Amino acid sequence: MNFDINHDTFDREHIWHPYTSTTNPLPTYKVKSAKGCTITLEDGTELIEGMSSWWCAVHGYNNETLNNAIKEQIGKMSHVMFGGLTHEPAIELGKLLLSIVPPSMSKIFYADSGSVAVEVALKMAVQYQFGKGKTNKNNFVTIRSGYHGDTWNAMSVCDPVTGMHSIFGTALPVRYFVPSPSSKFVGEWNEKDIEPLKEKIEKHHEDIAGLILEPVVQGAGGMRFYHPQYLVEAAKLCRKYGILLIFDEIATGFGRTGKLFAWEYAGIEPDIMCIGKALTGGYMTFSAVLTTDNVADTISNNYPNAFMHGPTFMGNPLACAVALASTKLLLSSGWEENVKRIEGQLKEELAPAAALPQVADVRVLGAIGVIETVKPVDMAYMQKRFVEEGIWIRPFGKLVYVMPPFIIKKEQLTKLTSAMIKIIGEMEI
Ligand code: PMP
Repeated sequence: MNFDINHDTFDREHIWHPYTSTTNPLPTYKVKSAKGCTITLEDGTELIEGMSSWWCAVHGYNNETLNNAIKEQIGKMSHVMFGGLTHEPAIELGKLLLSIVPPSMSKIFYADSGSVAVEVALKMAVQYQFGKGKTNKNNFVTIRSGYHGDTWNAMSVCDPVTGMHSIFGTALPVRYFVPSPSSKFVGEWNEKDIEPLKEKIEKHHEDIAGLILEPVVQGAGGMRFYHPQYLVEAAKLCRKYGILLIFDEIATGFGRTGKLFAWEYAGIEPDIMCIGKALTGGYMTFSAVLTTDNVADTISNNYPNAFMHGPTFMGNPLACAVALASTKLLLSSGWEENVKRIEGQLKEELAPAAALPQVADVRVLGAIGVIETVKPVDMAYMQKRFVEEGIWIRPFGKLVYVMPPFIIKKEQLTKLTSAMIKIIGEMEI
């Protein structure tokens, strides 16, 4: 094969990008560098970052503290295996994380990505039930409109419709799904919302190991914000029927929703919790699964007396070092005020969108601003228009949303919100 072709052609013809075709790919924009809230393209175009690179880059790009943490660690070692060896970054990070997550979390398992964290969490739940002698309890229940990743089991608990699972047919494990809560985050709690879960659990609890859900904010499955009381009621059912409660806080964690972690809205502690994305401030892929003494001891005190998972890059020192630096920076950065400021500005500046005929709903929680359109957007066209306006926002389906870095300046955020409204207003009705 002749690869003596220009960069754009090579990228288009040989490199697979997320959720797109190789024969008719969505366009890509070549990035030269990124600093703070600005992405600079190869041709010099500057874009204000509205996505935090899929919820990760909470401190913006090219942060000196994070750069230094990686440089310092790379001078010591980039990686050593975690089987039989340990290191300071893993220990220091573990200490810090366990001090900021639900108090009942006392054990930490480092994994490679959000999806792998979900795989690990699901395996933990099944192995816990196995340890309890409940070998039939090996399935899962979840709510619709969820998203938990693209690996096999993570995919099996994503919304079957928006996740387009039908193409994988019977190869995918079949899970129990119930409607997602209709009570909105800001509205009244409707006690009927818990009924479908109650019925499902009452009927099938003998083969359910765990309930997995994203607390309060459902991200990639629909950008929905639901009532925290659902978590209170769901936890009661889980406790009653010996089902582990698994919170996927991969997208909601590290301040994005206005709380450090979204479980705080309900005050309900899970049995297992997944974190990722902003854990490394967007520097590299890394995640962690946290659990209680009860879960870890049950797994460890029963055959095979070990948790059966151990990735090659488990506890990678570079990832631990940058995660430690990022989490410390977040905690000392006044994130809460920043997220409140962003929330206030998003509420004010996105509100006029509600009057547009193209718009079905406008909602804001923490540093997440969503405009839901009446009709699906033409992603390639809208992306092009956003780039022309000097902003980076990647819509999907009927959702045009922003999740900016927490360091975004007022005028930068205004540029994002005004371009969103302008370009949605240009859509054909
Ligand atoms: N869970 C949630 C809630 C997510 O939003 C995502 C990623 N969008 C994942 C899991 C999967 O994470 P990753 O892409 O790092 O595998």
